[in-house]
Amino acid sequence: MARVSSVKAVSKCVVCRRTLLLGERTTRFLTDNSDWVSVCVLCRRAASERGWVKASTRDAVAVSEHRQHLPRAPKLGSAP
Ligand SMILES: [Zn+2]
Repeated sequence: MARVSSVKAVSKCVVCRRTLLLGERTTRFLTDNSDWVSVCVLCRRAASERGWVKASTRDAVAVSEHRQHLPRAPKLGSAP
């Protein structure tokens, strides 16, 4: 019979293969194979160097970019 280990949602850092502690902060990355993986804080840099995309990075970048062309305010230099 196969033993079922009672591990409760313990994630592993895919870069350093370290078992992450409960409550340890991880960053989700999208790999080349379009897999979502967990990366520990120490390996975030290594993950981005691999070209993985950070989860917090918004794909829809264009939305936040609002370049408002302000209407030209008339100069108040020409007072009567
Ligand atoms: Zn790591």
